[in-house]
Amino acid sequence: MKAYRAALLRFDDNGQPLYDADGLLVTGPDARGRQVVLAAGDHGGLVGRYPGLAVEDLRGHLIAPGFVDLHVHYPQTDVIGAPADGLLPWLEHYTFPHESRFSDPAYARSVAEFFFDELQRHGVTTALTFATSHPASVDAAFGAAQARGLRFITGKCLQDRHCPDGVRDQTEQSLIDTEALIRRWHGVDRLGYAITPRFAPTSTDAQLRGAGELAARYPDVWIQSHVAENQDEVRWAAELFPRSRSYLGVYDDFGLLRQRAIYAHCIWLDEEDRALMARTGTAAAISPTSNLFLGSGFFDHAAADAAGMRYGLASDVGGGTSFSPFHTMLAAYYVGREGQTKAGLSLTPGQLWWQHTTGAAAALGLGGVVGNLQPGCEADFVVLDPKATPLLARKTEQAGNLDELLFALIVLGDDRVVRRTVLAGAQA
Ligand SMILES: [Zn+2]
Repeated sequence: MKAYRAALLRFDDNGQPLYDADGLLVTGPDARGRQVVLAAGDHGGLVGRYPGLAVEDLRGHLIAPGFVDLHVHYPQTDVIGAPADGLLPWLEHYTFPHESRFSDPAYARSVAEFFFDELQRHGVTTALTFATSHPASVDAAFGAAQARGLRFITGKCLQDRHCPDGVRDQTEQSLIDTEALIRRWHGVDRLGYAITPRFAPTSTDAQLRGAGELAARYPDVWIQSHVAENQDEVRWAAELFPRSRSYLGVYDDFGLLRQRAIYAHCIWLDEEDRALMARTGTAAAISPTSNLFLGSGFFDHAAADAAGMRYGLASDVGGGTSFSPFHTMLAAYYVGREGQTKAGLSLTPGQLWWQHTTGAAAALGLGGVVGNLQPGCEADFVVLDPKATPLLARKTEQAGNLDELLFALIVLGDDRVVRRTVLAGAQA
């Protein structure tokens, strides 16, 4: 067992933040040998239950759940900050040429290692990430994640048309490769597989149909893709799939909307699409830095809530501009405030933080497993320093309540705030 004394942030079942200014977190093995949270709460109220247990004194710091990134592309680590004229030119000029290099396992592994270093530096302990169309890129990422003990989900990109040689796959072989990767990796240690059509325009009907068949055959495997990011892309999808009711409807028609299906962006949806997301248990990965960078549009939180959709926050690197959950939460706040194309609103600091931890885990179907520090959750957490910079120290010293403390960290925080990232009870 291990115990830590510090301020402590968790979330209740309604997504409300729970805060102990002088808290205690106790971690240790559960009956299955997993390193989990055994107790969390007020130090004075709990410490008497653990006589003789050494407690690491981290007072002055905030312990919070490790962040969950709902959508990121590890092979685009080096594409971050690429100047392009919107989504489709960005894919053509930067992303596809770069991704073609991931047929080389050694190259893929080297990028995966750097990517995981970055996630840990930024306090991200679970990620749902794209690989490339090359099976080697999946093996490389899983191998690196397994060695680090990460809870991690990825999958081979399916893209059998409308993309160049070097990243385009073959329909039959792509489905055979996907099934082989599911059998090799899904459920091994903390790893999970995601069936990964890049987006509808780069897959034939046959490939999407095959992906849907695999999704039905392996119901606890994840599905990830993109939908309704940008208006040019929406028009293109409508031309390619004239029989589907909408872009989201394409995925529905091929059996790709269900629990554990996560779609990045979800900006240009209509009411019927949102109801379909809610009804099927499909979740949105909101990617605000990417959407602002590429000028794609603004996710409508109020409409998503009205429909009862699940969602969480995502960096979407390399379309996104930062691995930092703090930058992503701040960008989500900007996107919420935007009131010209939709209703503007002010997301509270607690809501923003929940969307990048407990809420994102729930969207993945991993509620109670990661993304929170309630008893039984896996012991993935971060130790944050609210005085990491002079301005943060000055701001957080003046914070009169939890909202003010969390918002100071969201607006002014970055990797300098993250003093320690703990994966399954062990310091990363
Ligand atoms: Zn993406």
